[in-house]
Amino acid sequence: MTSPETTAIPSRSSLRVAVIGGGITGLAAAHRLREVAATLDRPLEVTLFEAGSRVGGVFETREVAGYRVECGADSFITNKPWAIDLCRRIGLESRLVPTDATYRRALVLRAGRPVEVPEGFQLLAPTKLTALLRSPIFSPWGKLRMALEAVLPRGAERDDESLADFVRRRFGREALERLVQPLVGGIYTSDPERLSLRATLPRFLEFERDVGSVIRGLRRQATRAAGRDESASGARYGLFATLAGGMSELQNALASRVRQHDTIQLFASVSGIQHSNDGYTLTMDPELSTPFDAVIVAVPAFRAADLVQSFAVDLAENLRRIEYASTAIVVSGHKLADVRNPLDAFGLVIPAIERRQVLAVSFTSRKFPDRAPPGCVQLRTFVGGAMQPNLFGLPDDELLAIVRRELEQLLGLTWRPDFTVVARHARSMPQYHVGHLRLVEEIEAATARHSRLVLAGNAFHGVGLPDCIHSGEQAAERIMESLRGKTNGEATIR
Ligand SMILES: Cc1cc2nc3c(=O)[nH]c(=O)nc-3n(C[C@H](O)[C@H](O)[C@H](O)COP(=O)(O)OP(=O)(O)OC[C@H]3O[C@@H](n4cnc5c(N)ncnc54)[C@H](O)[C@@H]3O)c2cc1C
Repeated sequence: MTSPETTAIPSRSSLRVAVIGGGITGLAAAHRLREVAATLDRPLEVTLFEAGSRVGGVFETREVAGYRVECGADSFITNKPWAIDLCRRIGLESRLVPTDATYRRALVLRAGRPVEVPEGFQLLAPTKLTALLRSPIFSPWGKLRMALEAVLPRGAERDDESLADFVRRRFGREALERLVQPLVGGIYTSDPERLSLRATLPRFLEFERDVGSVIRGLRRQATRAAGRDESASGARYGLFATLAGGMSELQNALASRVRQHDTIQLFASVSGIQHSNDGYTLTMDPELSTPFDAVIVAVPAFRAADLVQSFAVDLAENLRRIEYASTAIVVSGHKLADVRNPLDAFGLVIPAIERRQVLAVSFTSRKFPDRAPPGCVQLRTFVGGAMQPNLFGLPDDELLAIVRRELEQLLGLTWRPDFTVVARHARSMPQYHVGHLRLVEEIEAATARHSRLVLAGNAFHGVGLPDCIHSGEQAAERIMESLRGKTNGEATIR
């Protein structure tokens, strides 16, 4: 292995850190840098560079025709602590809103009809036998095959395995095709035949390894949770939470805190990073000659590859190996009287075997309050992803025609929308394919050879909002650690 590159920090009066990318990862990183700045013995200057006209990346809340519309992420999981912790630190705790328990269930399309996902079904596995037996989703043989998982011998230890292989092996083909594919594939907008289970849902592998069965592992976990003090966890918010005014509240609060001491430059697209003894210089238009002592790169992996290309060819090559999927969300508002389906759930997922042209429909105003005017419903329909890449590129009117046809057939909708918004997220969802963790290890080893350069974002250790916040904050802490090491004139890091 090559030894780390060495760069001494010039004895300027202050230390300069650049954060590239103003999505939630970059914002969390810039905010954390300032939170821990007091631990340095020199002043710190942070500049965040964002290519677009606003910060937030794939987050965007808009007010349209009396509806509160999320164009990207609409909520986050609460059993990972980082988003809730950050909300508490920046004064947003009182703005957190749990999901509405009245509608806390999901539907899946089966033979053209929306039916309820069996109670207690946890992404891959049933936990309530009676609910499974009553479900119209599976055949009698399919149900028996799933229930047999509890007594199936443990499989041989594997390096990595796709979600599809694991589910077929433990629960059978029906479980995969009729329910697990749309539930899990929907979260990652991925092809389950390529999705790495170890990189996305490792606890299911651990149940097999440690307990011998996923069903028994989940039951044991539920028994333990029942005996624990739930108030210490995120349980008071349910499994998902949002912010009262929409997800943009988070990015706005972070941005205004960052701006109190530091700089956010919009329309500032960085096209390259140069590394020299003087630190890191960013290539951009108009030219910027100020060198930085440290850089956090918080942009998608394929963009990060372009930035580091001039001094880290191997790193750039590995970053480009992470594939991305594109998704469009068609958001629409309707009078409840125009929908025959009672919509008594959070949403509908659609298996690929149903051969429809949409992936899922979220009944957004059933999940959270104040997302639609009284007597109305907000729907978010997902199109594209890794399973239907050709649909993403269609013009707006064709996408709307598809969504209209599908919603009319699936939900009995009469198409007289109060509004429609087409939100496109091109190459926004990194695909954690089999082998992902090994690839990330190689990327991290190559990055570690460059002092005070850290990569962060959804491409590495989790795509959800809490993971992105954690990734940005960890990057900031690593940079601060290295800067503290350097302020007394040490020559190298790592
Ligand atoms: C459609 C969709 C729905 C989702 N829903 C949820 C959800 O409900 N809950 C959840 O937890 N997660 C959800 N996710 C995942 C989560 O929202 C993302 O993983 C997360 O927001 C990514 O944040 P990021 O900052 O890493 O990247 P991004 O949001 O992609 O931000 C990167 C930023 O870098 C900027 N940039 C790029 N190149 C440059 C450059 N050269 N110079 C300067 N700036 C640059 C971009 O303009 C962008 O603002 C969803 C993702 C998508 C795509």
